[in-house]
Amino acid sequence: MSAQRLDGRALAREIRAEVAQRAEAFTARAGRPPTLVSLLVGDDDASLSYARSKARQAAKIGIDFRLERMAASDGTARIVNRIEALCASPDVDALIVEMPLPRGIDVAAVQDAIDPRRDADGVSPDSLGRLAAQLPGPRPATPLAVMALLDAAEVDLSGKRAVVVGRSKTVGLPAALMLLARHATVTIVHSRTPDLTQRAREADVLVVATGRPGLIGPEAVGPGATVIDVGTNWVSEPSLDAGGRLVGDVDPAAAEVAGLMSPVPGGVGPVTTAVLLRTTLSLAEAGIAEPAGTHEA
Ligand code: NAP
Repeated sequence: MSAQRLDGRALAREIRAEVAQRAEAFTARAGRPPTLVSLLVGDDDASLSYARSKARQAAKIGIDFRLERMAASDGTARIVNRIEALCASPDVDALIVEMPLPRGIDVAAVQDAIDPRRDADGVSPDSLGRLAAQLPGPRPATPLAVMALLDAAEVDLSGKRAVVVGRSKTVGLPAALMLLARHATVTIVHSRTPDLTQRAREADVLVVATGRPGLIGPEAVGPGATVIDVGTNWVSEPSLDAGGRLVGDVDPAAAEVAGLMSPVPGGVGPVTTAVLLRTTLSLAEAGIAEPAGTHEA
């Protein structure tokens, strides 16, 4: 039996349609479109390509997307200053700093510089703290996309065993906090976990975010489990003109064991961009309604 496929592209279309309506209403009310600034430091090709993809999606639904670029040689202090200036600008509603940052840039300092009222990807320590405390605030887009996929498939989380593989502050950790807030019993496993396969097999809901292609095989998936694959890995395949192929962290053969599974590509990825744009709208709406407020995004 093969797992039912969770269709991220279809869900992303639905979310974008809702955001497009809200963007139109915002523009009518504010006299300008909602605005998302993406700050790209350095010249990472993949980050540039992701930023351009966001720009295309934003343009389709009436969000003004501005790409700002800085050089790795600008250093942490100047990047922090630029972020503070952008966040203070009255015509910027939301800001995302593209990851990964070049070596030598202090990621924590950069994330700390983002005003939580402009934090499109919910990465500032303030935003993460609000998530941990279950207070309203902008949430990180990728784990939000994981939850959106689970909700679209009406996966019951309360009292279920959820295992998150990976503990990064942008994906694994906030995904675990979101699952916990929905009353799942959550285990986080990571590179120091000795019995990963056994832990993963116990999961009713398995979320995998490691950046290790094929780390989770069929032997690590319990029969009928729901598997969300966050992994986005380019593996080179000389036969392809594009020079590579996008694969997840989960071996596609796991679909023979799982009940529901998100594919790569076409799973978490498209939903992540859609929910990022939705958060942009929420921040923009909160900005004109209540300039000093934070809110559920
Ligand atoms: P990250 O910061 O590198 O974190 C990877 C996590 O995986 C770490 O917690 C690490 O454990 C854990 N890990 C690595 N190897 C492992 C192993 N062999 N066994 C168990 N755990 C292991 O990566 P990230 O930013 O969370 O991203 C994870 C993946 O998601 C990447 O493929 C990334 O491209 C993808 N991603 C996708 C989207 C999307 O929109 N679809 C967005 C963001 C990220 P330690 O903490 O112990 O080192």
